[in-house]
Amino acid sequence: MANGDAACSVPTIKFTKLFINGEFVDSVSGKRFETIDPRTGEVIALISEGGKEDIDIAVKAARHAFDSGPWPRLPGAERAKILMKWAELIDEHAEEIAALDTIDAGKLYHMCRNVEVPATANTMRYYAGAADKIHGEVLKGSREFHAYTLLEPVGVVGHIIPWNFPNSMFYVKVSPSLAAGCTMVLKPAEQTPLSALYSAHLAKLAGVPDGVLNVVPGFGPIAGAALSSHMDVDAISFTGSTKTGREIMQAAAKSNLKQVTLELGGKSPLIIFDDADIDKASELALIGILYNKGEVCVASSRVFVQEGIYDEFEKKLVEKAKAWVVGDPFDPKVQQGPQCDKRQFEKVLSYIEHGKREGATLLTGGKTVGNKGYFIEPTIFSDVKEDMLIAQDEIFGPVMALKKFKTVEEVIKSANNTKYGLAAGIVTKNIDTANTVSRSIRAGTIWINCYFAFDDDVPFGGYKMSGFGKDHGLEAIYKYLQVKSVVTPLYNS
Ligand code: ADP
Repeated sequence: MANGDAACSVPTIKFTKLFINGEFVDSVSGKRFETIDPRTGEVIALISEGGKEDIDIAVKAARHAFDSGPWPRLPGAERAKILMKWAELIDEHAEEIAALDTIDAGKLYHMCRNVEVPATANTMRYYAGAADKIHGEVLKGSREFHAYTLLEPVGVVGHIIPWNFPNSMFYVKVSPSLAAGCTMVLKPAEQTPLSALYSAHLAKLAGVPDGVLNVVPGFGPIAGAALSSHMDVDAISFTGSTKTGREIMQAAAKSNLKQVTLELGGKSPLIIFDDADIDKASELALIGILYNKGEVCVASSRVFVQEGIYDEFEKKLVEKAKAWVVGDPFDPKVQQGPQCDKRQFEKVLSYIEHGKREGATLLTGGKTVGNKGYFIEPTIFSDVKEDMLIAQDEIFGPVMALKKFKTVEEVIKSANNTKYGLAAGIVTKNIDTANTVSRSIRAGTIWINCYFAFDDDVPFGGYKMSGFGKDHGLEAIYKYLQVKSVVTPLYNS
């Protein structure tokens, strides 16, 4: 295991309280919870624990800011000015934000610093650019009416986000909803509250008016449930597990029928055909499952390889997996840090045991790394049958299920044999194969000869039990807007 010089990179923790109505405040109960460093299992800081009462206070602040504050009424260009300033602040503080996600979630520091955090600044800029281009349309109608639509902000939004991309998810949710003119309460995951609280501070510096953005850390079944069942929240935008998505939808239905969008789990197939470049394809497959230690909703956890190249592909893949460097995520040589927390670490290990018991062949990995923290070896199983748990469940860890296939028809059927439909990858030089397969897979994103090709301009979201509603792209703004139709007679005599 590689060890980095972590000490110099660990930031001072400045923000540990709830951010409500523009101020950092203690929770009503005074309770605090530990946030843990997955590199060591040690406590980083104590964070104020938001409960139902705190969610009530935060929603009240957001409601007031929506009903009586300037934000929804500002010209789009004025909102854009503030969001652009915020984007500059993200860039200025990229080191600190990246380091917070590294100690809280075990993410690779250099990847966060150089790629993920700057990308969130650009996400903010993308939606800032859209803030003054939100408009309805004039309708033709079939009678002598003048009719048009207005696009109005949906109101108070509750954002509930996961722990695998704490900073990125914060901005994926907050940026389009702010551009749309909404006000909001965001609940970060209990495992990773640090970067969200830091970003609340940046919002204040940028000039976001008090009450527009409130950040309430706390536990899912308490603070998250209070938000999703709140009578004064107009919409929930959720990213997380399918199980929790179902609970949120039920809470919304039982309370005020608030609008819900869900970005949930996946078991994404990557399909590699005989004509692929074996070296490049094995690299893509490996990154597809090991990026962010497999804690990625679109991880290519099922890899299908055509029989003509299978043996050589498997050999290359295993060689590369054995050379993959697991260790301290501050070390630039390291390719994979620890799993996010103990629960996740144990869950992944139990799936590995399941895979062995179910009769899959363990080609490499399967063990923990080091004697502290939550590190797991890159793990590859072959001879995986479609009904095995490791081929069906979302593991959310560095565990790949590898399978050989013969024909296009057979692999389409296998790839679709999942309750999920988030993403899929295809590697081939044959345009007919790429066209046929991309149209036959029931998933919200198809990557051809690439993987993880996210972009601010490209809508992202699931089919089937991977959820509904899109993040990214202009599509994401529309989920924070509602259409009002206005009709008046042309001649009023
Ligand atoms: P995981 O099980 O992998 O931690 P979750 O979907 O449970 O994934 O977590 C994603 C987010 O959902 C977190 O912010 C978590 O606190 C929140 N959450 C968990 N349970 C609930 C719930 N019952 N209601 C609302 N939010 C919840």
